[in-house]
Amino acid sequence: MNRPLISTTKTSTDIAIVNIEINSDRLQEEIETLANFSEVSAPAVTRVLFSDEDVAARNFLRDRCREVGLEIREDPIGNMFATWPGTDRSLGAVGTGSHTDAIPNAGKYDGVVGVLGGLEAIRALKESCYQPRHDITLIPFTAEEPTRFNAGCLGSRMMCGAVTPEKALSLMDKEGVCLDEWRNRAGYSGDLAEVQCREGDFSAFVELHIEQGPELEEAKEDIGAVTAIAAPAGYGLRILGEGGHAGAVLMPKRQDAFMGAAEIALALEMLAKNSGSPDTVATIGVVEVLPGAINGIPNETRLEIDVRDISLESRDKVLEDFRAKVTEICERRQLRQVWTEFNCDPPATCAPHIVDAVETASAEFGLKCRRMVSRAYHDAVFMARLAPTAMIFIPCYKGYSHRPDEYSSPQEIANGVKVLAHTLKTLAG
Ligand SMILES: [Zn+2]
Repeated sequence: MNRPLISTTKTSTDIAIVNIEINSDRLQEEIETLANFSEVSAPAVTRVLFSDEDVAARNFLRDRCREVGLEIREDPIGNMFATWPGTDRSLGAVGTGSHTDAIPNAGKYDGVVGVLGGLEAIRALKESCYQPRHDITLIPFTAEEPTRFNAGCLGSRMMCGAVTPEKALSLMDKEGVCLDEWRNRAGYSGDLAEVQCREGDFSAFVELHIEQGPELEEAKEDIGAVTAIAAPAGYGLRILGEGGHAGAVLMPKRQDAFMGAAEIALALEMLAKNSGSPDTVATIGVVEVLPGAINGIPNETRLEIDVRDISLESRDKVLEDFRAKVTEICERRQLRQVWTEFNCDPPATCAPHIVDAVETASAEFGLKCRRMVSRAYHDAVFMARLAPTAMIFIPCYKGYSHRPDEYSSPQEIANGVKVLAHTLKTLAG
């Protein structure tokens, strides 16, 4: 009995939706332009926080946002807020965005699709003559990648208060240059306490991103509606032993810091494989052996360790067992251990109403959508502490990411932008 009414409402929405036209050529041109702000030549991209290339990319973005008539604000850590004012400014903004920094020798699409795609979604909505009730704010976040300060998602982390201004000011890069100096060089200053958002600043957040995994491409699906985001724990671990001459010190007498570290690495792999959770992953991506001579027994080995899971319980159990194992190995081999915590974040659960909105939008455009988890972490993890949040994934070639051959096709990107625009429209009223 209600059917005719529902159907009428839906039809009127349909008409409005059909009006969303994505200008794929304009978007592709901008992606190419942004890729040129890089320390290395195309197709590779290196754009580290507050480098000249990062600053140039920020200038480019700011200009593009101004052209569209968005209100620009930048906070003291360099997060940008480009806002399309809604008709009721007392309401929390609907946020979208991602990052434009890139790790050394990365690709063109990680983060960029969410920033330039977010801008294109706003332009498309404006061109469709839609007027939002809530503000719609595009946020290019500062330093999603941990390259300079070993602190991933620095901008969004500070927005939700997960990093205090004092902690941020204590950050130092490998050359000993502190955060304050770097941000001043890039043109940012002011009280870092102002970075933290207030409750109600945002009513929702949705981030468009390449999947960085192979699931969508393998399943020939267009859109991933992300239901949960795995959170990483990152640690530095120094294993300290006794150096000596590689020929002169006999095996029973050795306290070899690298052999201990090697056993520790394999123990971590075993724990992750046997955690009972298919989502547990553990990686040691950095190993430094000191003094680093073929004829010198290593007196120190530095490891950087990353452990993730969608389930906090599974991840923390692996970490707990790993610490016990490291202690056992160190005692047996007469080594010492020194830990540094880089980050240890809980995973995020996405807001069901936004996941639904993403699915609905996909259906409206005839796109195949699946619900999935994000195994990489994103600024959305921290935005989820400020507002209901979800993510939209698009396929990328073979799941490649953080490498120069990272690729999503213009069509795949346009699909994601359409779904994002539709979702923003649903959320912004
Ligand atoms: Zn990213």
